[in-house]
Amino acid sequence: MTDNTAPVALVSGGSRGIGRAVVLRLAAEGYDVGFCYRSDEQAALQLEKEAGEFGHRVLAVRVDVTDAESVREWVARTESELGPIDVAVGSAGVTRDNPLVLMTDEDWHAVLDTNLDGVYHVCRSVIFEMMKRKSGTIINISSIAGVYGNATQSNYSASKSGIIGFSKALAKEVGRYNIRVNVVAPGYIETDMTAELSEKVKKEAAKQVPLRRFGRAEEVADLVAYLAGERAAYITGSVIQIDGGMTV
Ligand code: NDP
Repeated sequence: MTDNTAPVALVSGGSRGIGRAVVLRLAAEGYDVGFCYRSDEQAALQLEKEAGEFGHRVLAVRVDVTDAESVREWVARTESELGPIDVAVGSAGVTRDNPLVLMTDEDWHAVLDTNLDGVYHVCRSVIFEMMKRKSGTIINISSIAGVYGNATQSNYSASKSGIIGFSKALAKEVGRYNIRVNVVAPGYIETDMTAELSEKVKKEAAKQVPLRRFGRAEEVADLVAYLAGERAAYITGSVIQIDGGMTV
């Protein structure tokens, strides 16, 4: 049974990894959820079905977040099919790692365009309606690489630092409209993104983490859901690390 008065959440990059866990968590908490994906239609349809089993509406749309017009259309369609957006989560992200001396212009721009421009496009598309309604919450997914920098990830670190500066500025701009903007900065999380690392690298990486393991996407989703909800009503402009103590 659907409930058309449910709050509405929008998640970019929802088909896999952290975004997928966020879609499931928010659907379980009673949100109608619109999410986008870039290429993996099978995964998106499977998730649409799985998240829909919580009894709320779930809408998957193929969108490339680097394309401003497509994001605008996606947001407009989600608003028209599900209703005004209460929560927006910017999670779509990619890596193209290389030392700077080997970095290609293409790899630089692919990462900045997806991770930073993608977050800008989502926030730019939802913000006016949130301001009109004097209500809304935005959570952008950065990374500890954006806080501390990571060798061989100058493109990724720049994009993730950019998300932090952008989100803090936006939090200051729109707080008076009762809109909160926060950043989640994960450490190593078990997803396809970290599956690219060799077993040896993963083992060494886990040794740097006081909790001695990678995090789970569901653990990040719990934090996102907390920030989205009323219990976090006085939290805005914050960068919350979820990294097993790695950066202590
Ligand atoms: P995954 O690689 O598992 O999933 C990435 C998701 O983003 C997929 O749903 C993918 O869609 C989507 N996506 C990628 N590019 C685009 C695009 N141009 N337009 C629309 N959707 C796109 O990544 P994670 O879940 O690991 O990462 C999620 C976020 O968390 C990212 O921003 C990442 O930087 C951040 N993060 C991850 C960490 C980790 O250890 N995993 C650590 C710190 C931060 P499709 O499958 O259709 O291509």
